[in-house]
Amino acid sequence: MKNIDAVFRTLQRSPFRRRFHLKSEERSYLAQKGIEDTMRHARAFIASRLAPALPANDGKQTPFRGHPVFVAQHATATCCRACLAKWHGIAVGQALNEAECRHVEEVLERWLRTEAARATQSSRQAAFEFPTSSVDKAVDNAD
Ligand SMILES: [Zn+2]
Repeated sequence: MKNIDAVFRTLQRSPFRRRFHLKSEERSYLAQKGIEDTMRHARAFIASRLAPALPANDGKQTPFRGHPVFVAQHATATCCRACLAKWHGIAVGQALNEAECRHVEEVLERWLRTEAARATQSSRQAAFEFPTSSVDKAVDNAD
């Protein structure tokens, strides 16, 4: 499993990953729920959608919008087991252990906190829309 700082440095070099940001709805959701509640949801998503040895719909289990954690997962390559393997050095085909779950949680929380801080700085960015056509075509190995 890779070091979190190293993972974030690598993510910064990916134009695909860097495109993901919270839009206004997800921002206000995060602001209203707060980071604690949002991370509770994150833990539930990790447990049900990522942690099993063979997650259902693996590669397509994470929507591109609708919850701040989903966006965070695409931005941090914690969206599916192939991305966890490629970017985070977490083996496929076996259930995530405690440390691996914690790693994913920490990555998501760090991205969400950074994104929340940046929310107040740029309202222009809040209006940014990920084009629907690219969403449909987006594949995890696009980068
Ligand atoms: Zn993925």
